[in-house]
This record gives sequence, C-alpha cells and structure tokens, in this order.
Amino acid sequence: GFQGPHVFVLFGASGDLAKKKIYPTLWWLFRDKLLPENTLIIGYARSELNVGDIRKHFEEYCKVRKDDEQQKAAFEEFVNRNTYISGKYDTDEGFISLNNAIEQTEELYKKPAKRLFYLAVPPNVFEPVSAMISKHCMDKGGDAWTRVVIEKPFGHDDVSSKKLSDHLAKLFKEEQIYRIDHYLGKEMVQNLVILRFGNRFISPSWNREHIAAITISFKEDFGTQGRGGYFDESGIIRDVMQNHLMQILTIVAMEKPASLSPEDIRNEKVKVLKCIHPVTEKDIVVGQYTANPNGDNDDSRTGYLEDSQVPKDSITPTFATAVLHVNNERWDGVPFFLRCGKALNERKAEVRIQYKDVAGDIFVEGQLKRDELVIRVQPNEAVYMKLMTKKPGFGFEAEETELDLTYNSRYKNIRLPDAYERLICDLLSGIQYNFVRADELEHAWRIFTPILKTLEEKKTKPHQYIFGSRGPEASDKLMHEHGYIFSGTYKWTPPNKL
Ligand code: NAP
Ligand code: NAP
Repeated sequence: GFQGPHVFVLFGASGDLAKKKIYPTLWWLFRDKLLPENTLIIGYARSELNVGDIRKHFEEYCKVRKDDEQQKAAFEEFVNRNTYISGKYDTDEGFISLNNAIEQTEELYKKPAKRLFYLAVPPNVFEPVSAMISKHCMDKGGDAWTRVVIEKPFGHDDVSSKKLSDHLAKLFKEEQIYRIDHYLGKEMVQNLVILRFGNRFISPSWNREHIAAITISFKEDFGTQGRGGYFDESGIIRDVMQNHLMQILTIVAMEKPASLSPEDIRNEKVKVLKCIHPVTEKDIVVGQYTANPNGDNDDSRTGYLEDSQVPKDSITPTFATAVLHVNNERWDGVPFFLRCGKALNERKAEVRIQYKDVAGDIFVEGQLKRDELVIRVQPNEAVYMKLMTKKPGFGFEAEETELDLTYNSRYKNIRLPDAYERLICDLLSGIQYNFVRADELEHAWRIFTPILKTLEEKKTKPHQYIFGSRGPEASDKLMHEHGYIFSGTYKWTPPNKL
C-alpha cells in the first residue's frame, strides 16, 4: 500500500559523525533501495549552512563511483531528498520551524510522518534537544511514530547516566529510545546468537563444565594521533570496555531467550549483568603507552603523555584488562576477561573461548593443548576452532590444527553491511534488539563506576607499555592467575589465496 513519509532529522548535521558516518550511510541505503520511499532528510545544526554546504562535507565519504552515470544521477536524487535548518538546540524557535517542515511533508503526502530524530551532537545538548523534540515535534498518531536515537557517551558514571536516563524516561517511552552501541551492528556479534543457539555441537558445552576462560579483546594499533583531548576525559574503560565489550559479554553469556523478540533478548542480557559484581582493584590491570623510539611514524614515536592535548600527569588508561565473573549456575568460577587497548601490536576485536583440559589424557604428556573457539569480529571476520588432530603420516602423535571459517574465502562475493547500515535499517523498521535498554546501561555503570572512582581518587599509575607491543605484562599475568593458559605452540598457516 501507499507508504506515508519518513522524516529523518539529523541534529549536529554540521559535525564529524554526521559527515563521516550518518550521511554516507543514508546514501548507501538509498543507493541500495533500502531507505523507505518518501524519506525526507532534515539536517539541523546551529551553523548557517545550506544543503550545498552540507553536501560538500559528506560527499567525499560517500564513495560515489565517478565512472557510473546511473549512480551519479542517483546521488543527485539523494541530495534532493535533503533539506537543512539552522537553529539552536535549546530554544523553541528552531524546533517550531523543524516541526513546520515536517508538517509540510505530511500535507504533501496527506499522511502523518514517521519521525526519526538522530542526535549526532555532543552529550551536553542531549537534554535540551530531547526536551524540545518532545515539546514540539512528536508524531501525529495513526501508524506514525517518533524515535529518538542517541550515541555514546551515555553519561560519565552511574549518577550522570541515571540522570540522562531519567530525563529521557520522562519524555519518551523506552520503545521510542534507541541507544546505539555500534558493536551490536557487527556481523560477527550478531552471529554469536546463531552460533550459540543454532548448533548442537556448541550449546551443550557452553558452560563451566567445559569452558576454562573467555576473553573478549579489542586492540587498536594506533594511538591518539595528537588529538587525545577527548579521549583523556574518558579513557579506554569508558570508551570501549563499559559499553562495547560488556555488550559482547552479555551475548556470550546469556541464557537462550524465550524468543528473538527484543524484550526477550534484552531481558536475558540484563539477567547476566545482574549476576556480575562491580570490578575491584585486584580484578584489573590498567596501562598507558609510551613512545616507541624506533617507530616508523609520528604517532608511534609519540607517547600518550607527549600528546599536546593530554595533561603531562594524566593517569588515564589507554589499556585495560579486567576479569569479571558471572555468578550463576552456568558460569560460576569461569573468568571473563575484557581486554582493550590503543597503540598495540595489531588491530583486532575477537571473542576467544578456551576449553578445559581433556580429562583422563591417554597421550604423551604435554601433547594435548586446550581447544579454543575464536570468533573474530574485525578485521577479516572469521570463526575458527583450534583443536587437536593426528599428525598426518606414520606415527601416532597429536598435533594442533584448526577448523577454519574465514569469511572472505567462504563468502567471496558477499558484501557485509557496515554496522551503521544495519543499525539504521533496524531503526527505520523498529527492530530494537540491537539497541541498549536503560537497565542494561544502569548495570554496566554499576559494575564499572566504583573502579573508575577508585583509580581516579587514588591516582593509580597505569603500567607503561611501549607503542606497538601487546600491552603490559601484568595483563598476561592476571589472565594466567585466573586460569587462562597460553601454550605458545599454535602455528597458523594462512591458506594460499588469502
Ligand atoms: P562534533 O562534530 O563535535 O559535534 C557535532 C555538532 O554539534 C557540531 O557540528 C556542532 O554543530 C555542534 N556542537 C559542537 N559542540 C557543541 C557544543 N559545545 N554545544 C552545542 N553544540 C555543539 O561531534 P561528533 O563527533 O559528530 O559526535 C556527535 C555525537 O556522536 C557525540 O555524542 C559523540 O560522542 C558521538 N560519537 C561520535 C563518533 C564519531 O566518530 N565522531 C563516534 C561515536 C560516537 P553546530 O555548531 O553547527 O550546531
Ligand atoms: P595464539 O597465537 O595461540 O594466541 C592465543 C592467545 O594467546 C591470543 O589471545 C594472544 O593474545 C595470547 N598470547 C599471545 N602471546 C602471549 C603471551 N606471551 N602470553 C600470554 N598470552 C599470549 O593463537 P591465535 O591468536 O588464535 O592464532 C595465531 C594467529 O593465527 C593469529 O594472528 C590469528 O589471527 C591467525 N589465525 C587466523 C585465522 C583466520 O583468519 N581464519 C585462523 C586461525 C589463526 P593477543 O591477542 O594479544 O595476541
């Protein structure tokens, strides 16, 4: 039937996230015919701009094929779907004009518009913008709706996060609020649910009887690149661990939900969080990188404290490993390591499940190594299972090998949508399970606020590690003490064609 209009309002349209991510994503969805028909995009910010100016900002990130006339024409059509309104974030006027613009579209299509408000603005204006939306811009009922999208940071600690949640709860229903954690939009994070609940191989051993340790890692191979100002106020625990890594943990640890409905899934995630005690000093190792004098670029020859935007006495962690326990019947005693850092030896995000030793070993002592199942989230998505096999040929020795599902060889011609493409599609279709619910957030802050306060109050000095290393040794030691075993014997031979 005839679709009423959708209106996508982008606050902070003049900003970084808007030009690098949101506008390009809207274009890719438009190009691939995934944006609903009759979608109007309204950019909103204080700067005096017009669509032409905004276009200049985002076009270079859109990767429009210069040799493809049809695509170039489609891009013009996309640009024509845009308008821009200049207005303040905390006064009525701008929001009244915004609402008028939406109502004009409604008159044109003679149907109430479905309204999506994306707050790509700094957190200090979340409250006024959301209050103004609620005052002036709500939908007109029928099959129309209003959705409000916000990006991290959702507060700086438990108190400020609760303040924001309470503020939003007064204005909107929870089903109107979409909190983005873009890790939930990643192919391999979503695949965790299928791997876990779609495989008889895996599900029966997914517990304390069989699993020795679970490690969720996020590693970056670059530093602050001279722009550490924003980072220094948050640090790696707030920036990555408390949100992205905790989200992955809940999906790895949750019980099978009653159904795939967003509330059933998020209820299970919250149950996991409720079973986790706050992190204490003995559960964490924090690190801060120093320069690598032999580095091959400016970034690597600059230590964190030498970044001109970072205070010389900063104790902000650029690396952290924490061990958490989920105190329930499935996971009692199993360490969950959350490990993240900047300026390390490589860039990767992965989930690593290490199984326990085989009971009643009959082979030559020391030959059997622990099985590991690794889900690599990025880059080069893969699932591989490190396991023992007979060394081929004469003799009867066990050796390590892998069963390997590497996406770019198994799924050669499939383009994986980027996290934002998926999440914006979900936003438009009202699929909420890949967005963070208020109670998940509340628990994540309950778990991390005390240690953040302790580190800050005691001015705990982070362990130093050199740019390009694997991070502080104390991190490996913490993991070892809690039962993770690194054998150092596994050798991977990449297949020829990779
Ligand atoms: P940004 O470029 O600093 O700000 C976006 C726009 O907000 C600016 O163009 C500016 O527009 C307005 N603005 C800036 N400072 C302001 C202030 N102090 N008061 C009122 N308005 C202000 O921010 P961003 O990098 O796009 O990030 C937007 C949101 O997304 C933030 O919450 C950020 O934490 C989050 N986020 C960003 C990224 C990213 O890659 N950039 C990634 C994850 C999350 P006008 O002056 O024209 O109004
Ligand atoms: P691994 O080398 O046995 O490493 C296993 C884990 O031990 C990693 O988490 C590693 O941490 C950690 N570790 C490394 N050195 C350590 C030390 N000295 N003390 C304590 N822990 C230490 O096995 P892997 O990482 O699974 O595989 C090895 C390589 O093969 C990787 O580069 C992997 O990407 C590649 N591989 C790729 C595929 C594929 O693409 N399909 C399949 C199989 C293997 P870090 O994470 O910090 O290194």
